[in-house]
Amino acid sequence: MWEMGGAIKLVYTHENIAIASNIQSILEAAGIETVLKNEYSGAGRGELGVFDTWPEVWVCSDTMYEKARRIVDSITELPEGAEWRCQRCGEENGAAFCVCWYCQSAKPD
Ligand SMILES: [Zn+2]
Repeated sequence: MWEMGGAIKLVYTHENIAIASNIQSILEAAGIETVLKNEYSGAGRGELGVFDTWPEVWVCSDTMYEKARRIVDSITELPEGAEWRCQRCGEENGAAFCVCWYCQSAKPD
């Protein structure tokens, strides 16, 4: 159980743990300390609604939240059609991802 004083804020949630953790990686690469919640949810928790168990990316301060929010917005507000399909495994990836979220292959040119 993760507990911490101060304001923690949810910056991103997605049903797919790989995508949520990719967002987390991008934020951490930008120097933002994050916490991933519900990382292992999904299986065996049928009593909860689907939306209650999505993986969530949280940050630990208001300052970090503002920065994280801008990064997440820049990723999630990209126009439709900017996604790319991995040539190795066939998964679709958001335009902001430079490697496939699924198999880590590099984005094709
Ligand atoms: Zn792939």
